[in-house]
Amino acid sequence: MSRSPLITWSPSVTLVPTRVCFNACGYCSFRRSPAPGELAGDGPLSDGLDAGAARVRLKASPAAREVLLLSGELPPGSRGRGNWFARLRSLSALALAAGRLPHTNAGPLSLREMSALGRLNPSLGLMLEGLGPAYDALHRQAPSKRLAVRLGQLEQAGRLGIPFTTGLLLGVGESAAQRRDALELIALLQRRWGHIQEVILQPWRPDGTTAAPLPPEAVNALLSTIAEARRILPPEVHLQLPPNLWPADRLVEALEAGIDDLGGIDTGDVINPAYPQPPPPALAERLALRGWRLRPRLCVHDRWIPWLPAPLRRRAEAMAQQLAAAG
Ligand code: SF4
Repeated sequence: MSRSPLITWSPSVTLVPTRVCFNACGYCSFRRSPAPGELAGDGPLSDGLDAGAARVRLKASPAAREVLLLSGELPPGSRGRGNWFARLRSLSALALAAGRLPHTNAGPLSLREMSALGRLNPSLGLMLEGLGPAYDALHRQAPSKRLAVRLGQLEQAGRLGIPFTTGLLLGVGESAAQRRDALELIALLQRRWGHIQEVILQPWRPDGTTAAPLPPEAVNALLSTIAEARRILPPEVHLQLPPNLWPADRLVEALEAGIDDLGGIDTGDVINPAYPQPPPPALAERLALRGWRLRPRLCVHDRWIPWLPAPLRRRAEAMAQQLAAAG
C-alpha cells in the first residue's frame, strides 16, 4: 500500500431549502418544476423548508457536524431570488446556532451572495460537472450549468478565499480525454488560488426503477480516472468518492488508486435515494479488515480552517479538536 491508510468522512445531515429549480438537467430526479408564476412571485416557495422542520431534522441527527444545504436554484434577477437567498442564510445561521457547520451547495451565486454565505459557511460547493458535448446535451435546459459559469464560480470563490468543494459527474458519455481536460482546469484554478479542498468523483447512476450497481467495466474505467486525478491535481486536494455509488467489495481498490475521502454521509442520499448509504460503523469495520482507518472530519478540511473568518475559525478549531479527541 503506497498511501497513508487513513480515509475521512463527514458526519452530515442534509437540509433541502427547496427542490424548485429553474434548470432542468437531463439526469436530475431531485428537481421539482416551479408552479406557474412561482418564480415570478416574491412569496414563499410552495415546498420551502421552514425553521421548525429544519430544527427537527437537526435534532434527529445529533452526531452530524455538517449541515449540507442542498437546494434547487432560482434564476438570477428573479423576484423570488431574494427570499430564496434569505432562506439559505437563515438556515446557515440556524445550523450554526445548533452547534453545527453549514456547507451550502445551491448553484451559482453572485459575488455578494457568495461573500455573505462565506461568512456563515466554512466551505461552499459547486460541481464543475464536466466538459464536452455529452454535458452540453444534458444541460441544454440548464443555463447555470454552462462551463464558463461554473469556472467563473470556482474563480470567484478563490478570489474570496472560500474553501471550496467541486467535482465531476462521470459516466454520462464523456471521453477519457474530456475527463482529463476537466481535471486540468480544476488543477489550474487550484494552483492559482489554493482554495479547492476536495474534488468529488461522482459516478452517474440512474435512479428509481432503473437503479443498478455500477458495472465492473465502469468501475475499471473509473479506477483509471481516480489515478489520473491523483496525478493531475495538487496533492493537498482531497479526492472524494460517494461510497453508496460504488461497489462495497471494490472500495479498497478506489482508495489504493487515490481516493482519500468518502464525503458527507447522512442516513440517506437525497440526490440518489435508490442507493442507500453504508452505515459508517459497518464501513469502518470493513475498511479496518483491509488496514484502512476511517476518521470523521468537518465539512472544512483541517488544512483550510486557518482561512476562515475569526468566528467560524474558532468554532471549527474547537469542533475539529472534539472530533479528534472522540476518534
Ligand atoms: S441544477 Fe441541480 S437541482 Fe436543478 S435540475 Fe440541475 S441537477 Fe437538478
